[in-house]
Amino acid sequence: MPQTPGPPKPNMPILSNPSEIAREALRQLALRRVAPTPDNYRKLYHEIAGTRPDDDALPEAFVRKLARRLPRDSAERQRHGHQLDQALADGRHKAAEAALERYLDGLKLGEPQAWNELIGNLLRQWEARQTGWTPARKREALDRVLSAADPAALYTRLQGLLKSWALATTDADALAVEVPDEVSLRADTSSERAGANAARPAAPLRSAAAAATDTATIEALRELVTISLGEALPPLLEEYPPLRETAAALCTEIASRSEAAGLREVGTRLRQFAHELELAAADEAEIRSGMLELLRMLLRNIDELVLDDRWLAGQIEMLREIVDSRPDPRKIDDAGRRLKELIYKQGQLKHTLAESQRHLRDMLAGFVDQLARFSESTGAYHDRIGQCAQRIAKANDITEIGPLLDEVMTETRSIQDEARRSRDELIVARSQASEAQERIVTLQNELEEASRLMRHDQLTGALNRRGLEEMFQTESARAQRRGTRLAIALLDIDHFKKLNDKLGHKVGDDALVHLAKVVRQHLRPQDVLARYGGEEFVILLPETGDADAQQALVRLQRELTREFFMTDMQKVVITFSAGITLMAEGESLENALERADTAMYQAKQAGRNRVMVAPLPA
Ligand code: GH3
Ligand code: MG
Ligand code: MG
Repeated sequence: MPQTPGPPKPNMPILSNPSEIAREALRQLALRRVAPTPDNYRKLYHEIAGTRPDDDALPEAFVRKLARRLPRDSAERQRHGHQLDQALADGRHKAAEAALERYLDGLKLGEPQAWNELIGNLLRQWEARQTGWTPARKREALDRVLSAADPAALYTRLQGLLKSWALATTDADALAVEVPDEVSLRADTSSERAGANAARPAAPLRSAAAAATDTATIEALRELVTISLGEALPPLLEEYPPLRETAAALCTEIASRSEAAGLREVGTRLRQFAHELELAAADEAEIRSGMLELLRMLLRNIDELVLDDRWLAGQIEMLREIVDSRPDPRKIDDAGRRLKELIYKQGQLKHTLAESQRHLRDMLAGFVDQLARFSESTGAYHDRIGQCAQRIAKANDITEIGPLLDEVMTETRSIQDEARRSRDELIVARSQASEAQERIVTLQNELEEASRLMRHDQLTGALNRRGLEEMFQTESARAQRRGTRLAIALLDIDHFKKLNDKLGHKVGDDALVHLAKVVRQHLRPQDVLARYGGEEFVILLPETGDADAQQALVRLQRELTREFFMTDMQKVVITFSAGITLMAEGESLENALERADTAMYQAKQAGRNRVMVAPLPA
């Protein structure tokens, strides 16, 4: 619970400059961990200024100054700021205060305590000395950070700035900020620095014990920094050999230097290194998002780039899923493996397909040649027969006609032979062509099948999650259209870990295959089996009520105990626990499965090898 300001602290300075009072008031807000409300601020302000809360009004000059500084970066803040200006211009103090209060409320500062701490740290760091940070540079950085419009962004940016200041804080200052259990030391050193203020009691001398703690802390920090530079960073810098070398060099130096001046010098280089790291990280992030965007674009437009993308549908779908979700190394690896397999398979199929097509083309070309030759020879036959006819017409006696008739007969026979040969060849060509055509159709189907396999689990042949999601869409739409029920069962093998441990992972895999086989054998053709996870399966039972679905699953359990499976002459019986539910109208698969999962858990609790039904929500 945030406190309200307590009685004045004995060591509180009496200040007269309003901006110093304001700053001290902020500092006290933070130190005393009180909620940063205008009321608390006002009380503290008067406490520090030594004034009485003159009818509770804030000093006008301060409010005017504040009003000028308040960012007006949203419509709401503009409105409140305008009301504040107006009230100040009209001399309406109460109204000004109310407007200020509304403005502060609108900031939604989140956890007051977090802001308290932040402001406290900010004040401490502002007063501390940091290597490489002149007051002007600090002011510039703070100005930049304060330009953040959104309180959340402001908070994060302030934290970032504080972190970089804390890292650069020199010697004892570093301990004052970074070591939490040095609270008293922190309060002392910061107040010591906060004023060469004569009214303040002198800072107590630091004890030898505190100095020893300092040394221990420095050593611990040194070790942390060397671990970060020497062990944690190098694997991340594979692609940046110069940075890796710098990290190694810095690591050696930090380990060997002990005097303050030397450490300060390494500190400066460390900051430079941090800056280079930041640049490299920004480059990496840009490259990664650029590559992902390229891939996304390619996947979105693949249909237009590839003439026939039917065979690619499965792979494209899988890649899209990976690109659109949070990249997960295991998923990428798995997808890569499956893709390679598929590419190889499809490569082979495509090769055979291309061969068949070439075969068909050659045959067609041969057929055309044959036709051309045939028409040529029939043309020559016509000519020769025509000539024979003329010579017969001119013949004077029968003896001249005899040889001519022989010639006609020979020509006719040869053309008949030619025709027969052509016809035979054509019959062969036609049957080869239709064979090739059939082969092409088969290959095309196989290619589609290979792509379709991307919707199936490789081990059990049951649908995978994507396949299940698709089938659920189809089945739930159908059920809604027809007003029928759709039952959903979630199965989980009992004590599967034990089976794996006792008989090995391979036998575990065989058990999964066996279960899928038995389920498929005993379910109706319209029921859908999917492998949902490791040893979990989902069954969709269209047009089935929950009692019938339960019966069907109990029957499956019976079959499974009857049809045990063998390994090394050993009988392995697997059982499962299941939860069943009906799909509620318009419900997602995920929702329904949550209910089924609860019922399945109850089945496990009740002793396993059981089927429980989860009722539909009222
Ligand atoms: P419970 O009866 O409570 O379900 O016990 P359980 O041992 O079956 O449950 P748990 O979830 O603790 O263990 C599941 C085990 O299934 C863990 C994992 O080793 C194994 N598993 C998951 N996927 C596979 C797989 O593909 N092959 C094999 N062989 N085992 C798997
Ligand atoms: Mg499980
Ligand atoms: Mg299990």
